[in-house]
Amino acid sequence: MDLPNIETYLHPDDIQTITTWGEGWTWLAGGTWLFSEPQPQLKVLVDIQPWRWSEIEIQGDNLIIGATCPLIKLLEYPWLAEWTAIAVLKTAITALSASFKVVNQATVGGNICLALSAGTLAPLMVALGASYEIWNLQKESRQVAARDFQIGFKTTILQPGEILRRVLIPLSNLTWQVDYQRFGITATDPALAIVVTARNHQQVRCVIAASVVAPRLLESEIMETAQTEFIACLDSESFIEDAKASAIYRREITEILIKSSLSELILRVQRL
Ligand SMILES: Cc1cc2nc3c(=O)[nH]c(=O)nc-3n(C[C@H](O)[C@H](O)[C@H](O)COP(=O)(O)OP(=O)(O)OC[C@H]3O[C@@H](n4cnc5c(N)ncnc54)[C@H](O)[C@@H]3O)c2cc1C
Repeated sequence: MDLPNIETYLHPDDIQTITTWGEGWTWLAGGTWLFSEPQPQLKVLVDIQPWRWSEIEIQGDNLIIGATCPLIKLLEYPWLAEWTAIAVLKTAITALSASFKVVNQATVGGNICLALSAGTLAPLMVALGASYEIWNLQKESRQVAARDFQIGFKTTILQPGEILRRVLIPLSNLTWQVDYQRFGITATDPALAIVVTARNHQQVRCVIAASVVAPRLLESEIMETAQTEFIACLDSESFIEDAKASAIYRREITEILIKSSLSELILRVQRL
């Protein structure tokens, strides 16, 4: 779709060449969302694709994924077999049921920063204990835990002019047993509920998303009681109520997905 209100398109060589940031400015990554609907509030697009932040590499104890890495690259990359969590990363992308164009063009950073409640990558990143490196216009960086990044529907902790540079996932967490469950009215509809569960030696983690505005992490130290604890926590969550589903329905679906996901985790551990 054309965006007739856009006055300026910038494609700077480097982030530091941007000396100002104002109202109506936005980063342009894959453009699959930005060009999918009118954006009357926007005036300036700053294209970040020329920066080629699409690396997938190991640095120290972390797997690094650059912000402009297209989703398709995550599906096609030759991952190490022992990184069991990668299968779930692929499930999360496939679950988008997005068109060929979106999967080829949309980026990891775009998906995370768009911060839809039904965002597919964010709950997995929270479950895996990922963190995000954020830059400002002076290239000063700060790191924030994925669990603290999204604070509402299409709302993150990014300040004006800040950008997600890369995602860091601890290598040891990639070997966790992880499960991803999603429910939508049809396969192509945005999810009404997403549940990601993960288990390591000390902990069971459960992230609920899509049924609430931003991913929420629940934790338990005992597998046997985790289900009861997580379901009890749902009483204090605020579930989305809209034309697609009531809050009560979303809560029920979330509970069903938690049970199903934890059962799947137990089966996986028994198979080891
Ligand atoms: C009809 C439709 C339905 C969709 N449904 C779903 C869904 O159910 N679940 C889901 O997960 N996704 C959904 N998507 C979103 C799809 O996955 C996104 O279009 C995509 O992830 C956005 O990626 P992009 O690189 O194209 O971002 P863009 O469209 O370029 O940008 C999206 C937003 O992110 C910002 N941004 C991009 N990169 C960065 C960065 N590095 N740092 C800071 N800000 C940045 C942009 O400024 C913009 O605000 C849907 C998209 C469409 C068009």
